[in-house]
Amino acid sequence: MKAARIVKVDEPLQVQELQTPKPKGSQILIKVQSSGVCHSDVHVWEGYYEGIDGQPLRTTDRGVKYPLTPGHEIAGIVVH
Ligand SMILES: [Zn+2]
Repeated sequence: MKAARIVKVDEPLQVQELQTPKPKGSQILIKVQSSGVCHSDVHVWEGYYEGIDGQPLRTTDRGVKYPLTPGHEIAGIVVH
């Protein structure tokens, strides 16, 4: 499968070929037809969130690991 991934923060996404995941247990596999980009995706791409006091909170300090595939607002077809 192809995925547009954040490899390094604040750099263009890279389209990569990845192994199609195999669902386990109660998981399902969805063939993504489209995906929205929400503001949390932008924060992950920028590499930080703005804290309550305006201080930047680095995504890596909050457990985010790169590379990753952004987009959690998807529409698709259940294939398995
Ligand atoms: Zn969202």
